Amino acid sequence: MRYDYIIAGAGCAGLSLLMRLLQQPQLNKKSILVIDQSQKEENDRTWCFWEKSTGPFESIVHHSWKEVNFYSDSFSSKLDLYPYQYKMVRGIDFYNYVIAFAKQFPNVEFRYEKVTAVHTAMNMAIAELGNDRVEGNYIFSSIIFEKPELEKNEYYLFQHFKGWVIETKQPSFNPSVATFMDFRVSQEHGTTFMYVMPTSATKALVEYALFTETLLQQNEYETALKDYITQKLGIQDYCIEHEEFGIIPMTNHPFPLQQGKVIYIGIAGGQVKGSSGYAFQFIQKRIKGIIDSLVKHDHPFIQQTLTNKKFHFYDSVLLQILQHHKMNGDSIFAAIFKGNEPKTVLKFLDNESNLLEDLKIMSTVPSSIFLPAAFKEMFR
Ligand SMILES: Cc1cc2nc3c(=O)[nH]c(=O)nc-3n(C[C@H](O)[C@H](O)[C@H](O)COP(=O)(O)OP(=O)(O)OC[C@H]3O[C@@H](n4cnc5c(N)ncnc54)[C@H](O)[C@@H]3O)c2cc1C
Repeated sequence: MRYDYIIAGAGCAGLSLLMRLLQQPQLNKKSILVIDQSQKEENDRTWCFWEKSTGPFESIVHHSWKEVNFYSDSFSSKLDLYPYQYKMVRGIDFYNYVIAFAKQFPNVEFRYEKVTAVHTAMNMAIAELGNDRVEGNYIFSSIIFEKPELEKNEYYLFQHFKGWVIETKQPSFNPSVATFMDFRVSQEHGTTFMYVMPTSATKALVEYALFTETLLQQNEYETALKDYITQKLGIQDYCIEHEEFGIIPMTNHPFPLQQGKVIYIGIAGGQVKGSSGYAFQFIQKRIKGIIDSLVKHDHPFIQQTLTNKKFHFYDSVLLQILQHHKMNGDSIFAAIFKGNEPKTVLKFLDNESNLLEDLKIMSTVPSSIFLPAAFKEMFR
C-alpha cells in the first residue's frame, strides 16, 4: 500500500502535524501511517513556551503565568509578560490528547517500530523498517539518524537540563509567578540557569539548564538542584514526584528542510532556536506552514524566508560569542531584559521582531563584542 503521508517519529513535531492534518477537512481523509519506536506512554518532557492568544493545544495547557521572575547578579526583576502568557504543556497530556483524537480516524494507522532510514526512490518516499519498508507520497520525518557533520564556523552547543517536579508539605510557591531564568548559580561550566515553574502553592517543576560543549555527570545536575532548592528556594522538606532530563542541540548548522519527498520537521528540521533552545512554537509555525501549503498547493514544500535567514544570522552571532566565551550568557540575557520591554524580547526570541526592534535590542548589548562577531559571521 502506498500511503498519502507517512509520519516518521511521533513526538512533538510528528503528533502536532498529525493533529493539524486531522483538523483540516481538506486533508483529514488522506491515508496516514504514523511510525514511532516508542508508544509515547511516559511523561518524558514538559514544554514551556509563550503565546499571545489561545493556541492549538490550549485545552491541555497544564498551567500558565502572566508574570515571571528574572534573576542575575547584575539585574533582577519581576517581568509582566503582557500581551504574552508563559504556558506549560506536559508531554504525556500532549501524547494522550493527539493519539486519542487520531484513533477516531480509520484512515490513520500506527506502527511501533524503529525506522532505520528514510529516502526517495522512483518519486516515492520510503521508510526502511528493519526487514520491511513502507511507501508514501511524502514522509514527514522528525528522526535524527546521526549528528550532522559540521562545516567550519558552524557552532554546536548542547542545551542540557535536568528537572524535578517537587512537592512540599508547606505552601512554598506562588503559582502565579514563574522563574523564567535564575542565573544566580555557578557559571563555571558556561551559561547556566535554573527555572522554577510552580503549578500550585506546594508543587513546582525546578529545572537546572546549561548551554555548554560537554555534558555533566548525572550527580552534578542533582547536586545543583538540591543546593538550589535548599539554599535559594529555602525548602528543606520536599519529595521528588517526577524527573526529566533533556539534551537539545543549539547550533547554526543549516538542517535541510526537505530532500526529495522527505520533509524534515521538529529538531531534525532545524526548529530549535539556535540561541535559546526553544522549539515548541517554532515546530508549530513550521507545521502550520506545511498544512497551508498542502491545502493551497497540494505539496508540503516551503522555502526559507529572508526573515528566517536574518534570525539565523543573529543566532550564529550569539552562538559564536557563547562558544568562544567572548561574553557569558548570563550577562547577555541580563542586558537584554534590563534594557527592553519583556514583550519586545519575547517577540525577538520568537523571530518576529522588525528591524527597528532588533536594533533596539542590539543597542543594549556591548557593541565591542557583538559588532566584531557579526562582522565575522557576515564574511565567513
Ligand atoms: C526534556 C525536554 C524538555 C524540553 N522542554 C522544552 C520547552 O520547555 N520548550 C521548548 O520550546 N522546547 C523544549 N524542548 C525542546 C523540544 O521542544 C523537544 O525536544 C521536542 O520534543 C522536539 O520535538 P521533535 O518532534 O523534534 O522530537 P521528539 O519530540 O523527540 O520526537 C521524535 C520522535 O521520534 C521517535 N524516534 C526517534 N528515533 C526513532 C527511530 N529510529 N525510529 C522510530 N522512531 C524514532 C522518538 O521516539 C520520538 O517520539 C524540550 C526537550 C526535552 C528533551
